[in-house]
Amino acid sequence: MAQIIDGKAIAAEIRSEVAEETRAFKETYGITPGLSVIIVGDDPASQVYVRNKRKACDNCGFASETYALPASTTQAELEALIDRLNQDETVHGILVQLPLPAHLDEKTVLLRIRPEKDVDAFHPFNVGEIMIGDYRFLPCTPAGCMELIRRSGISVEGKNCVVVGRSTIVGKPMAMLLLQANGTVTICHSRTRDLSGICRTADILVAAVGKRELIRGDMIKPGAVVIDVGINRKEDGTLCGDVAFEEAFPVAGYITPVPGGVGPMTIAMLMKNTLTAAKRSKGI
Ligand code: NAD
Repeated sequence: MAQIIDGKAIAAEIRSEVAEETRAFKETYGITPGLSVIIVGDDPASQVYVRNKRKACDNCGFASETYALPASTTQAELEALIDRLNQDETVHGILVQLPLPAHLDEKTVLLRIRPEKDVDAFHPFNVGEIMIGDYRFLPCTPAGCMELIRRSGISVEGKNCVVVGRSTIVGKPMAMLLLQANGTVTICHSRTRDLSGICRTADILVAAVGKRELIRGDMIKPGAVVIDVGINRKEDGTLCGDVAFEEAFPVAGYITPVPGGVGPMTIAMLMKNTLTAAKRSKGI
């Protein structure tokens, strides 16, 4: 039977470490880490995420500002706000909540954020740094998965790692981080042949697809570490992951639940990145 990796507890641990470090940083430098979050339009899920980010900032002792812009905001208006925040010394992190309304060009918007303030690590400069392995920020969700693995005492070195999903935000950077940790990494996607067979080779299996219970129990190697990034909604409104938890639990060695696994880690890592950005602004 698998050991459950408690993402809620590990995320709380990270947030309290960040809060502690923030206290010391404020005392020494008199600087409060500042995060500005921009949300355009009224997507309800995005509003929940933004509220949670704000709450986490308060708990860590950060200054946070939310810019809630109407869905009619133009590209020029959004870029002008980013330019202003880029110049503002009290703002160490800038985050544009995705997705943006269709008339706005996401790529140009992300390029506009100064890489030093890009706490989501979506700017091509930061993405490039991850490829090189010499980074200042890591994208929050894959970084959160790595922390779950590390803080559970699991070594990646030499292990067969399979990442299912190749998105820019999760799958690809996740594969790079496992590679940097000396795993032997395979990336699967929608055109992969024999997904089951490849998954069964995984000592560490990361599912980041967005398809409810795609990964069945018989696709898991006995004793494997299973990290479920997926967030899907069942008919009754409750959440579930990409892994059929009830089937995987008796087979896996470690497993993350949904909810309460990877989800809470994303915001915890955002807090860590914001503190890093504030420290970097002082050359630390
Ligand atoms: P995405 O839609 O951008 O990418 C999905 C990937 O899955 C694609 O690369 C696609 O090739 C692959 N795929 C689709 N069908 C497949 C199949 N049948 N077999 C194998 N691969 C298949 O999604 P994303 O942004 O990477 O997010 C993935 C999931 O993770 C979603 O459920 C999302 O909600 C969740 N997510 C969670 C967090 C978190 O904080 N926990 C953060 C980001 C995303």
